[in-house]
Amino acid sequence: MKYLSYGVMVYMLLALIWWAVLLSRNNQTLYEHKLALSTCISSQGIDTHSGAHDIDKIHQFYKRNQIMILGEGVVFGILLVLGMWFIQKAYNKEIVSTIKQKNFLLSITHELKSPIAAINLTTETLIKRSLSPKMTVELHESILKESTRLEKLISNLLMAAKLDHDYKYHFEKCLLHEKVAYCIKRLKLQNPETEIISEFDGDDISIDADHEAIISLINNLLENSIKYSGQHAAIRVKVETVPPFAVLSVADEGIGIPDHEKAKVTDQFYRVGNENTRQTKGTGLGLYIANKIIAAHHGKLTISDNIPQGTIVSVSIPLSKNK
Ligand code: ADP
Repeated sequence: MKYLSYGVMVYMLLALIWWAVLLSRNNQTLYEHKLALSTCISSQGIDTHSGAHDIDKIHQFYKRNQIMILGEGVVFGILLVLGMWFIQKAYNKEIVSTIKQKNFLLSITHELKSPIAAINLTTETLIKRSLSPKMTVELHESILKESTRLEKLISNLLMAAKLDHDYKYHFEKCLLHEKVAYCIKRLKLQNPETEIISEFDGDDISIDADHEAIISLINNLLENSIKYSGQHAAIRVKVETVPPFAVLSVADEGIGIPDHEKAKVTDQFYRVGNENTRQTKGTGLGLYIANKIIAAHHGKLTISDNIPQGTIVSVSIPLSKNK
């Protein structure tokens, strides 16, 4: 398809050049004939003054036509190239969006089906078999883990849908470090093996934020840092004041994000690598949601490398002006 459109474009350009050459040649022939006729008339000595005047007019007519052919040809050629370029750009965008949607559907199908299947199987085992108390607790824990995963996925899907359809932000003054501490506490319960080191620069880091949105933003950053660091991950969370901003940074020692992917990971449904080769589960919505929320809070999201290993995702949000 891509090569076909290139072929059509080249053909149309060549046809345009060919028509321009033909027109120019016709103009040349017409000019030569008119010139011969005029010379013939003036050689017969009918009216030498008006003969010279006619030759002048023929010259001007010829030049005007040549300029018109060249000018219109160039304008038409430029319009043609521009038109084809826009079509090609729109086509490429459509292809990228189709691939992303396909990847999203593949991952969402898997993400929704696998926890439900796991919960069903574990519940059936609990009902049908008499198990030791230890085993029973383990299976209940596994059900809780899967349903938590499902809950996170659904809340991200709903959040992304809401943000795409005119989400009404309710900004109110709040303490950023308190929101972060709340999310860390919840996450530590779900991931007891993960070491989360938090560092809060003061106890009055206030911002104007929408509660639901800011919690979703913090959760997405923290969950990503755990997800892409593997088991027994160590995460460093810092909240500091860098006037006029409050800055939250989440640093992990995980797989990192290659430089050429950093600008793309905030796109909707974008995931690094190929859906078949990817090890981790996800939908490509987390950083898209985070970026949208941070933009609505007039802040900025930046992604950098953690040295020697991992990623630092930082968000800056303007400090509250309401004292
Ligand atoms: P998801 O995690 O569901 O794939 P996200 O939008 O949260 O979607 O992230 C997009 C991509 O960015 C991920 O697929 C992953 O490749 C990359 N990524 C995000 N956070 C991290 C991180 N902390 N470390 C390494 N890679 C990350």
